[in-house]
Amino acid sequence: MYDYLIVGAGLYGSVFAREATDRGYKCLVIDKRGHIGGNVYTERIEGINVHKYGAHIFHTNNKRVWEYLSRFTTFNRFTNSPVANYKGELYSLPFNMYTFNKMWGVVTPEEAQRKIEEQRREIKGEPRNLEEQAISLVGRDIYEKLIKGYTEKQWGRACKDLPSFIIKRLPVRLTFDNNYFNALYQGIPVGGYTEMVERILDKIEVGLGEDYLSDKKKWDDLAERVVYTGPIDAYFQYALGYLEYRSVRFDTEVLDISNFQGNAAVNYTDSQTPWTRIIEHKWFEFGKDGDGNDIPKTIISKEYSSEWKPGDEPYYPVNDERNSELYRQYKALAETEDKVFFGGRLGEYKYYDMDAVVDAVLKKCDEVFS
Ligand code: UDP
Repeated sequence: MYDYLIVGAGLYGSVFAREATDRGYKCLVIDKRGHIGGNVYTERIEGINVHKYGAHIFHTNNKRVWEYLSRFTTFNRFTNSPVANYKGELYSLPFNMYTFNKMWGVVTPEEAQRKIEEQRREIKGEPRNLEEQAISLVGRDIYEKLIKGYTEKQWGRACKDLPSFIIKRLPVRLTFDNNYFNALYQGIPVGGYTEMVERILDKIEVGLGEDYLSDKKKWDDLAERVVYTGPIDAYFQYALGYLEYRSVRFDTEVLDISNFQGNAAVNYTDSQTPWTRIIEHKWFEFGKDGDGNDIPKTIISKEYSSEWKPGDEPYYPVNDERNSELYRQYKALAETEDKVFFGGRLGEYKYYDMDAVVDAVLKKCDEVFS
């Protein structure tokens, strides 16, 4: 008999298993996929750690989380500075003086500020949706060229129908600073995320290719308690209806050239290009392999966004009103399950950054094991 059955070997499940194991509890981690790591999983191809489920750039202001993960990996000095490609025009992201200079020819912060002020005047009162929020942050020109197309491709919904918090992730700066994140700590695990998660799960029993929901009773009987990190609506057999997710598909190619786009991430912000962005994986590690040698080839992934349908991999929760309300109802059901608790991006139906997942699970452990 196990003390804990942990369903899902992603960050939430792995960290919980580590913490429980270190406190003397017997754990079994299962995952329906054939690998650990959930969506942070990386696979080494041609000496390059390929982010199989999309770019994961670790960043945080949370010292506890940074130090915690640093027990299992060394983070490199990667800083995310994506480039936006709008019909062949290149702009720096996030929105900063380089972006404003390219967009309007302005040179000083004061000129940029004036331009933004001029353009944001069209929004009266509190922004009510993403479109209004974006225009009130950076004005209509930037909204039209760098936000609208990208956001509508990514979410499959009009910016007017999306919540404004999505865009609040992006900093707006009147300085020449291309660092995408406002984070004290940032980097990519040296050797890839998979090695980091392997170390988190060191000496813990893991069953891969095991589908909890298809034989729930069998699994439940194996453990005193269950930590479930899969989709909350799937757990309840969609009894109250489907929660909506966005799914992502990656078209990955190995190219016989050493440098395709000169940057880890290029966002295609127009509405015609069918992909949202192209990731060139080698630049997460400066084009070097584990021995510090230049890698002769390169690997790129074009990312296509689509509406989730049963059978697809769920990626982003769509936290609009309808889904948030439905989630509240599932959460109330979840609270009646006394031997199970729900955690992580899918278990809590939340657009979680990696650091927030680790913070949440560590706090949960403080509570559970106090
Ligand atoms: N965004 C945008 N243009 C860009 C990059 C981001 O408008 O070039 C907005 C968009 O609304 C998007 C949000 O910022 O949904 C978050 O994007 P990001 O790429 O940071 O999300 P991730 O997929 O990396 O979590």
